[in-house]
Amino acid sequence: MQPVTPEDLIIRPTAPLLIVDVDEVLAHFMAGFERYIARRGFEMRIDRFALFQNLYRPGETEHLDFETGKALFDSFFQDGADDLEPVIGAADALASLSTGAGVVILTNAPAHALESRTGWLSRHGFDYPMILNSGLKGPTIAAMAARTTGASAFIDDLLPNLESSAETAPGVARFQIIADHRLRPFAPTAPDRHDLHEDWATLGPALGTLVGSV
Ligand SMILES: [Mg+2]
Repeated sequence: MQPVTPEDLIIRPTAPLLIVDVDEVLAHFMAGFERYIARRGFEMRIDRFALFQNLYRPGETEHLDFETGKALFDSFFQDGADDLEPVIGAADALASLSTGAGVVILTNAPAHALESRTGWLSRHGFDYPMILNSGLKGPTIAAMAARTTGASAFIDDLLPNLESSAETAPGVARFQIIADHRLRPFAPTAPDRHDLHEDWATLGPALGTLVGSV
């Protein structure tokens, strides 16, 4: 599986299109990052919807400073991002949905994560074209969805990306899932605007209804 640019992505002009995030949608990022930092002597305490502000030195009450957190994040994507558990049901649901719909992976992982990310996706049954995005995802979603007359959907864990999609691509249906159940109570959501799911057992059928397959 190779990364593609939005321009090189093949989109069938009448087929439905599913645009899918990775971390906390297909992959248990928080749990994997937690194992990674634990090996380096740090701990994660999930008590807010944040990343670096949930990282601590054992015994300390002040979270890590931004620079230390960012350095751990960057090094995770150098040599730790292969160790992520896939989210249950996601691969099977997308395999089924992809018989009728195009699937594209849209991730905001850093550029140096390209190889580990594509390798991980391939190994876990997500053999779909991947686009490495940076910043809010709405404009990229709008450009892709404009290339098909079929129904399109976007799935992400982060409210700002869903809001960005609503703003720039209002015709694209939006779905939110936060795979880490510890993080979920703290996650900003807007279920009246973006269909909220706890797992792929309900998300898969909801997408199926939209795109007209299983
Ligand atoms: Mg994500």
